Amino acid sequence: MRTHVLLPSLLLLGSLSLTAACASEASRATTAKARPGSSATASPVRAVDPSKIKGLRIVNDSSENSSCAWATGYPDVPGATAMTAAMKKDVEQRLATFRSTCDSNPTAADGFEFNISHQFLVASGDVLGVRLTTQDSTAAGDGLTRRTYWYDGKAGAYRTALALIGDGSRDAFVAALKSELKGREGTDADTVNEAFTDRSRLVGILDDIAFTADGGLRVTFDRGEVGVPAGGAYVVTFSRATATPWLSAFGRRVQHQTVQPSRSLDLGAAATPTPAVPTRTASGDDDTDCKKVRCVALTFDDGPAAPETATLLTYLAQYNARATFFTVGQNVAAHPDLVRAEARAGNEVGNHSWNHPDLTRLTPAQVAYQLNRTSAAIKAATGKTPTLFRPPYGAINSTVRRATTLSPVLWTLDTEDWKYPDAAKIAATVVDKVKRNDVVLLHDIHPTSVAAVPQILRTLTADGYHFVTVSHLRSTM
Ligand code: ZN
Repeated sequence: MRTHVLLPSLLLLGSLSLTAACASEASRATTAKARPGSSATASPVRAVDPSKIKGLRIVNDSSENSSCAWATGYPDVPGATAMTAAMKKDVEQRLATFRSTCDSNPTAADGFEFNISHQFLVASGDVLGVRLTTQDSTAAGDGLTRRTYWYDGKAGAYRTALALIGDGSRDAFVAALKSELKGREGTDADTVNEAFTDRSRLVGILDDIAFTADGGLRVTFDRGEVGVPAGGAYVVTFSRATATPWLSAFGRRVQHQTVQPSRSLDLGAAATPTPAVPTRTASGDDDTDCKKVRCVALTFDDGPAAPETATLLTYLAQYNARATFFTVGQNVAAHPDLVRAEARAGNEVGNHSWNHPDLTRLTPAQVAYQLNRTSAAIKAATGKTPTLFRPPYGAINSTVRRATTLSPVLWTLDTEDWKYPDAAKIAATVVDKVKRNDVVLLHDIHPTSVAAVPQILRTLTADGYHFVTVSHLRSTM
């Protein structure tokens, strides 16, 4: 089964670009389809700056292969161990299911794509909330599912979305949801009643609950959960006044931290040492003449990642080597200091989309959103707007080209480092196959890829190679 579907970023696009609607205290609840661009769904989400979260790591993994394409990223916040474990379990299970579907449909796998992206909902006081959005082209319906994960730092416990609601208020909450959903296009009383009949399934159906910036309660149902699939996803928003009596004590704390965030997040973790960020600076000018000497452009995709990118920068500095980093926007937002260090050391920072979708499946507006949002994050980190982008999976077509002014960069030497986590093998692949003016594809989210770099730099330097950025290579070839 193959479906061409909207990517999670679209929902973000919808929620971030919209103004407040329908959230007045006067209206008891608002319901709307979660359709991108539909302003009726809007209640502003308070933006969280992930770079303020001490010790944050984004756990990334991806294939860079257009057949059975996948990319996942979820946060690991110090102190929230049980929540990280819950996300890890969900991500790994879903990815394993997707990959086994690929394996059993080898001829169709060219069209399969799987993506998990993350969004911080609250990172304040003793409360952490994250939404993971999964896009699975092999799943039923539109393949889009969302789940929110909560961590209660006071209790030291992971909480599901339903834990925001007090046990004694669940019946009233469900009754209110049912009454809001009934009569909506694509739902009827029977389908809505049926969805909520089995109480043991509530935790699964009500797995995306969060607060709006003004304290309202927003519940999102994935497509097909409470209506016919054609009805799409549904969002129900209750005003603060309506929702507050239903909340658990934890739910009230989350609501408070959403409306009035504290200055910092403290989940009671032992002090986490902040990894050192290399401080090497190099002038933007590189006088290497690739017409006269042997040049190679090493490129590192999918980062930045802590601590791998910092380690890589120290290796590059030891050999006076420059490289090009094709960064993923959601990781740039988490680690702008690393991106700043990349640029400061004379490397080039390029754009690899916000959350690594296959851009050829998107509309021009969606492509522009993926690239523009990432370029803005890079500019915020480095002061400089990128000029290059690498399409995830190397997937590009005329629609993608027309949707951006960025210049696309593919590669001429693929190390397949994402597939073989073996530093010696990766280094040997580069050393054995490299030719003058090659653009080499590597990934700085993998410790084994970073560990391969000293051997690559040592051997190729001895062979007379100079390590330059992609733009430098292009300008002097
Ligand atoms: Zn990539």
